[in-house]
Amino acid sequence: MKNIFLPDLDFALSLDNQDSLRDFRNHFYLPEKNLIYLDGNSLGRLPIATRELLQRSVDFEWGQRLIRTWNEGWFDLPGKISAKIAQVIGAEEDEVACCDSTSINLYKLAWAAVSLQKGRKRIVSDVLNFPTDLYVLQSVINQFGNQHELALAPSTDGISVSLHDLEQIINEDTALVVLSHVAFKSAFRYDMQLVNELVHRKGALIIWDLSHAAGAVPLALNTAGADMAVGCTYKYLNGGPGSPAYLYVNRKLHEKLTSPVWGWFGDARPFDFDHQYVPAAGIGKFMIGTPPILSLAAIEPGLDLIIAAGMERIREKSRLQTEFLIFLADNFLIPIGFAFGTPLDADARGSHVSLQHPEAFRICQALINPMDNHPVIIPDFRAPDNIRIGITPLYTSFAEIYLAIKRVEEIVKGEIFKNCSEQRPAVT
Ligand SMILES: *Cc1c(COP(=O)(O)O)cnc(C)c1O
Repeated sequence: MKNIFLPDLDFALSLDNQDSLRDFRNHFYLPEKNLIYLDGNSLGRLPIATRELLQRSVDFEWGQRLIRTWNEGWFDLPGKISAKIAQVIGAEEDEVACCDSTSINLYKLAWAAVSLQKGRKRIVSDVLNFPTDLYVLQSVINQFGNQHELALAPSTDGISVSLHDLEQIINEDTALVVLSHVAFKSAFRYDMQLVNELVHRKGALIIWDLSHAAGAVPLALNTAGADMAVGCTYKYLNGGPGSPAYLYVNRKLHEKLTSPVWGWFGDARPFDFDHQYVPAAGIGKFMIGTPPILSLAAIEPGLDLIIAAGMERIREKSRLQTEFLIFLADNFLIPIGFAFGTPLDADARGSHVSLQHPEAFRICQALINPMDNHPVIIPDFRAPDNIRIGITPLYTSFAEIYLAIKRVEEIVKGEIFKNCSEQRPAVT
């Protein structure tokens, strides 16, 4: 054993007792007592207030008030939600629009940025980025007649990208850089301000994808000098499956950028029903069509919980919890064949931890579908060999982290995973 002190369940419980965010867990719907949920970075838990709000929205706003509710709240809802998202990501409320999906918002902003940067022919991302981001960039390149090249910054360890390697690949011909602030697989986190500075030195624009960052780490888009950003609301923001995403455009770019899709919700006066499109001033022109009201409304209670807890406190607990997890894994799992797929420096990671093992898929299956009365433990699997463990400080406890790591140890030592099929379900 490398360390003399080995924590036990009592130690984990004592950390929970000292946790000032402990009571936030009571604001979430927890119907399955025997469930340890470690996948809030993929789909956040349901806030109790959201259940109640949706019930009322369906019965009263839709069922009873019908179309009248457009003037009793629905029309102003995107602005209200956007203002709260702005608070969480460090932007002004008139710089954020809550609409569409992350993929579509990225498309709109990437198209707008490439149009503005006429003459520059390189688009930069990195090999750690989420596939949809790369696909969207490929589609933008296709629509501009295949005149641009997509250059991906490499990763020497498969976990992180060095600023040096990123800088090498951004040249004077670069129109746009698109990066995930926190990488979906490894949780590697860029220093946003440093990257913004080096991108701007080359005259390029940057779009940050905040999907794995918002609600997980404090963000200060304006202070850090970001140009644009997109992100989803169903992960750490607990907005619900497929809840609408958001986009951010720094105010200094509002008048320079044009949306590729001109819809009536992006028009200056949609209810004039005029034949000629006139873009709304500011961020509004990036809206397209009627918002999905029920899914949009469902975002607010999750945001309220995050704002009440405060991102600094959430981050402090997340840092402690990821450190605790890494300490446990170092002692119990690394000796039995695991490797870290996550930066060990807390400043360089978000709020999830990846553990690599050749049998990662079947170990995940054994956690999710225990054969006996062990707790159900839900992390997720990311090919080829990552078990991703999402830490969501508003409802993850230290005891859950302890129990999950010890159970992984048991599954590997007892070869329990060998009872599981290698058949992959449609969604992992
Ligand atoms: C989850 C995630 C997305 C999801 O995009 P959708 O359009 O909502 O499906 C995009 N980018 C990143 C980095 C993500 O983590």
